[in-house]
Amino acid sequence: MDYRKLIDRLSEMHSLELNEYLFLIENHKEASDYAREKAVEARKKHYSNTVFIRGLIEISNHCKNDCYYCGIRKSNTQCTRYRLSKEEILECARVGYKLGFRTFVLQGGEDYRFNDDALCDIVSSIKKEFPRCAVTLSVGERSFESYKRLYDAGADRYLLRHETIDNEHYRKLHPKEMLLSNRIECLENLKKIGFQVGCGIMVGSPYQTSETIAKDLKFIETFQPDMCGIGPFIPHKDTQFKDFPSGSADLTCFLLSIVRLIKPNILLPSTTALGSIEESGRERGILSGANVIMPNLSPESTRSLYELYNNKLHTGCESAQGLRELKKKIESIGYKIVVNRGDVK
Ligand code: SAM
Repeated sequence: MDYRKLIDRLSEMHSLELNEYLFLIENHKEASDYAREKAVEARKKHYSNTVFIRGLIEISNHCKNDCYYCGIRKSNTQCTRYRLSKEEILECARVGYKLGFRTFVLQGGEDYRFNDDALCDIVSSIKKEFPRCAVTLSVGERSFESYKRLYDAGADRYLLRHETIDNEHYRKLHPKEMLLSNRIECLENLKKIGFQVGCGIMVGSPYQTSETIAKDLKFIETFQPDMCGIGPFIPHKDTQFKDFPSGSADLTCFLLSIVRLIKPNILLPSTTALGSIEESGRERGILSGANVIMPNLSPESTRSLYELYNNKLHTGCESAQGLRELKKKIESIGYKIVVNRGDVK
């Protein structure tokens, strides 16, 4: 097989066979320059040189789940727990709005206290105060009815990484009460309801193989998400995966390029995790085909408590000065941060 021919076909048809994805992954070192070139072409067609920013608000690190890789997993007794109040969340949004954020992403562990009534109240309050802003939720697996209520309250988008589409791999990352089939049903329900939906994976998660990644790419191709979170796995010292290595920035960037070619108009974040494993990682993600950055708007006092992995990148983007610096960095690589909701084009 010839990687150039495969990447050309992917650029035109947005689809490859499973064994072709596998070939690209196994030869990503040679194929990455060409994939990047094609991905940048594709993203420019839809989004020119613009980069969307989303204000991330980490609403709670309480979680009923016990995902083996995650620092805020239920059984991590070393984790100091917190939960933001409605007023604190609104205050984060106000600060963000003034800075130019027009999408707020509310992310958190699966926290019982954020039941439907509480979360719908928060979503509708944000939408009431900022009607022209989008609200993205990333609060895990919930019932169809719950998602529907959140949508009706005004939430626009939902991020729920599938983590891996390979059942055996999923079992190695999660306790038995968590089911891949449920996660996929959630993604399908979210789509049915009308959300813009994001799935995604960690690159280099323990026991991941080129074969499982190839299946993930095929899943992304068939599911056709509006957004896709692709970031490196980074170990957390209080998890059973503490001795596993971080995922590779090279492979992460390559996969960003491939996902851009699978769905040219996809909203593709260059993740904080990528910026955490490599200086200028987030800029590299943008140069590989990503078009979204999610700076942190969470209060300073809780930011370090939302520790999914160690050595998380701490940016000062919640301040005008911090955002100016980010804008400068993005301009220095030939791109431009824009002030709008940043919907799919
Ligand atoms: N509870 C929600 C959920 O399950 O989607 C949202 C919060 S969850 C912590 C957000 C994402 O963090 C997960 O989908 C996972 O991919 C990522 N994550 C967790 N632990 C990580 C780690 N050690 N390294 C990199 N990413 C991690």
